[in-house]
Parts: sequence; structure tokens; C-alpha cells
Amino acid sequence: MKEHLASYPYEKPSLDYMQTHIEFATEAQQSNACTLHEAWAKVPAALNATEIQQYQEEIRELLKQHNAVMVAHYYVEPELQDLALATGGMVGDSLEMAKFCKNHPADTLLVVGVRFMGETAKILSPQKTVLMPDLEATCSLDLGCPADEFKQFCDAHPDRTVVVYANTSAEVKAHADWVVTSSIAIEIVEYLHSQGKKIIWGPDRHLGQYIQNKTGADMLLWQGSCIVHNEFKGIELTHLKQQHPEAIVLVHPESPAEVVAQADVVGSTSKLLNAAVQRPEHEFIVATDQGIVHEMQKQAPHKTFIAAPTAGNGATCKSCAFCPWMAMNGLAACAEVLRNQSQQVQLDAALIEEARAPIQRMLDFSEAYKNYHQQQQLGAGLAQFQQWLATQHEAKYSAL
Ligand code: SF4
Repeated sequence: MKEHLASYPYEKPSLDYMQTHIEFATEAQQSNACTLHEAWAKVPAALNATEIQQYQEEIRELLKQHNAVMVAHYYVEPELQDLALATGGMVGDSLEMAKFCKNHPADTLLVVGVRFMGETAKILSPQKTVLMPDLEATCSLDLGCPADEFKQFCDAHPDRTVVVYANTSAEVKAHADWVVTSSIAIEIVEYLHSQGKKIIWGPDRHLGQYIQNKTGADMLLWQGSCIVHNEFKGIELTHLKQQHPEAIVLVHPESPAEVVAQADVVGSTSKLLNAAVQRPEHEFIVATDQGIVHEMQKQAPHKTFIAAPTAGNGATCKSCAFCPWMAMNGLAACAEVLRNQSQQVQLDAALIEEARAPIQRMLDFSEAYKNYHQQQQLGAGLAQFQQWLATQHEAKYSAL
């Protein structure tokens, strides 16, 4: 068992297990993407300590040579997260990654995550070279929301504002009015709802339902799901809570409603991380991809983190909460793409233009919302925020 998993009750399931037991994948609906089974087959073999060190040294040199920066998601392997931080890059959720990539002066971005993250980086910084360890690393939400079908869905409801989650292709984003991440989705939908807007939401149905319940907005939901979060089980979580009555339950809202209903904290990966670090309790049940526990354990080394259950009674694997596409990222591939400048994210210029507006709208909203709270030092009143927004004359807020 890896050091960072020391307080886990469960082992990470083996690749063999994943390849033979997980049968809930949808067929790939887009080109250049791995299906679930293909993704597990492409997960790199574990490296020994010497190999890890050699690759890390080579990557450090290559990053300098190419004026590149490494940006990693919380769900990728610990050695990738650590290297990103140690070389002046960052580790974060998808909103934080997007902001960092846009603002960093590097010529080349090495985005270690899944394809929509690399595409978002390219859309926001088209002049930069964007590399990914494997461009075929995708996401079940992206796969489950083909652009042509989503467009037909939207066209059938032209009176609705189209809000899509960041976990979508550039083509789907280009068709949206707003792109959101789980860090800012509730605030944006609440804002649109207060303006009387009816919404089309895609693609994650659980997150959409959660936001609808929280905001009361009129939302039509695309029926996609994340294959990792969708597997958390409500009844098994109830049993686990009985065994750990003091534990605080942290849940990502891509999880099913019966799991969200048992949470003490619901939110984005960053929100769950902050709760794990800042709350005084010592035991936490974590219902999101278990990659996040590396950072939780680093920032709160004396606390215990328990994987929320993903399987029913008698299952061999009690928690399979690891994303296969995130797991495709490895040190060897990072070195190779930097060395060869291969696996570059390429997007058509017109598509970049179309997809940028709804992403930029989210970033502007996020900045405006943060500025408002810093300046006002008031509570989170939406009405006050809207009044404040009306007094702002920055061009970048005019689209809100
Ligand atoms: S964890 Fe789920 S939402 Fe995240 S990339 Fe994997 S499949 Fe997509």
C-alpha cells in the first residue's frame, strides 16, 4: 500500500480487477477517445523509485528547456501532483487549472488530467503550446454528450439558456451560453434563475439535480453521469457511517442523490479539500475520486480519510473510486511529450473563438463574485451582488 493511502481501509483495486469487473462503460461516442476498458488497458505500469527519480529529473530539465509549466488535477497520481508543485506549476480542480493556465506566462502548458482540461487551456491561451500525456484520456461526461445530439436537444428548447459543465468537448462548449465548474455552478445558476432564465443543463444529471434542488431553477437535465461518482452507494454509506459515527462525510455533487443526502459537506474537489483541512474533526469519509486524498493527507497528516463505498455487500472491491482516464497519465508519458513536443492539443481557430465566450463568462463571474465579497465583506446576498454588479463598469463584466 502506498504511503499516502496509509489510513485507507481499502486497497486501490488492481488493474486486472478493473479490466474484468467493470461493465458499466458506455461505448465511445467520439473519435480520439478511449473507452473505459481501453483506458484501463493504457494505465502505465507502476515505476520503481529509481525510475521515478530519473523521470522527474528529466521532466524538470525539459520544463526549463521549453519554458513550460506543469498543471495537474487532484485526481492524477501523487508523483505527478508532487512534481507539478515542485517545479512551480500547480495542482487544483478544473476551475483553478483553467485560471492558472490562462494567467501563467509560460510558452508551453503540460496539462496532466483529461482532455477537456487541455482543450480549455488551449481555448483560453491559443498562442501557447498545450501538451497532454495522452490526448485519448477523456471523461465519461464528455463521451456521454456528443455535440450533435446535444445541439438537437438545445435546438428543441430555444427559449432556454444553455449551461454546460466544464467536462465537455470544445464543440459542446461552443454551443453553450455559460460553462461552469462545480466550484461556481450554484452561484451562476442562482444568478440566472434570479433573472428569470430557464435553463438547459448538461451533461451530469446528478450535479444538475443537486443544483436544481438548491436553487429552485427551472432546469432541463441532460442524462449524463460520471462513472466514478455514479458508483457511490447510499445504503453502503449508511452502514459505513454507523461504523464511524464521528466521521464527517465529504461528497462531490456528481454522486447520486442518496449519497449527497448523507453528506456533511457537498462541493467541488477544492471545497472538500478545504473542509478536510479546516474542520476540527479527525475522521472523514470521502466520496469523490480517491486521488484527492493525497493532498488531504499532505495538508492534514494526522487525520484519517476513509474511501466511501462504491460496491454492494459481498463485492470484491469495496471502493473503486479511481478514474481510469485520470490514471492514464504517467511520468514516462510526461517526459516523452515534452521531449518530442507530441500530443499537442489542436483546435480549429473558429471553434476556439466560439468556445471561449461561455468560459470567459464563467471566469468573469467568478472574479466579480470574489471581488464583491472582498470589497463588501458582507454575506452572500445575491440581490446585493446584483446591485453591486450594476455599479461596475468594467467591460469584462458587461456580458454577465
Ligand atoms: S472522475 Fe468522472 S468527471 Fe472526472 S474525469 Fe473521470 S469520468 Fe470525468
